[in-house]
Amino acid sequence: MNFLEERIVKDGIVKHGNVLKVDSFLNHQMDIALMEEIGREFKRRFGNKTVTKVLTIEASGIAIAAFVAKEFGVPMVFAKKSKSINIDGEMYVAEVESFTHKNKNTVIVSKKFLHEGEHVLIIDDFLANGCALQGLISITESAGAIVEGCGIVIEKGFQYGGRAIRNMGYHVESLAIIDAMDAESGTITFRQQEQDA
Ligand code: 5GP
Repeated sequence: MNFLEERIVKDGIVKHGNVLKVDSFLNHQMDIALMEEIGREFKRRFGNKTVTKVLTIEASGIAIAAFVAKEFGVPMVFAKKSKSINIDGEMYVAEVESFTHKNKNTVIVSKKFLHEGEHVLIIDDFLANGCALQGLISITESAGAIVEGCGIVIEKGFQYGGRAIRNMGYHVESLAIIDAMDAESGTITFRQQEQDA
């Protein structure tokens, strides 16, 4: 098991409805030493790519993406959830359905902060059905920027997002991929990855 899988086993809580709670170290209280390690691990995995910007989505991706951006020495931008219906032409816009809240959000990135020809590394905490990632990919590509890769902290491999996005040709790296989890027993099964071998 890698450092993240060990932490998930120790402190993650499997909930009904295919939700993993990682509130004690990632999503509410944050373990900063762990965040630093996550930042370094993404730098190791994407270090051979040109990255000029890190992009994530509000809210839980922000802190993680900040640590990744620090490793690359580039700015981090997060897509904001917007309630405004009149979004002027100054924004890139995507519709994202929330897996955890089951509602739809319009997310926006100002055209000031994402430009044609930029090399973008997309970062998020979880990958489930892939809506969040697809929204961020769509925003990046509408800016004429290049998606260099997608870095995910925890992928739920039994949901279809990871497969769909890899099938579209994107390079997705997940620090932990969960193949199965059971709310009754609390057991979590990880996919063996080459990176850990
Ligand atoms: P997707 O868009 O891939 O269906 O879901 C990804 C988003 O939903 C992530 O940004 C994350 O915030 C949230 N999410 C999905 N599954 C889980 C989960 O099991 N636990 C937590 N804490 N968040 C999740």
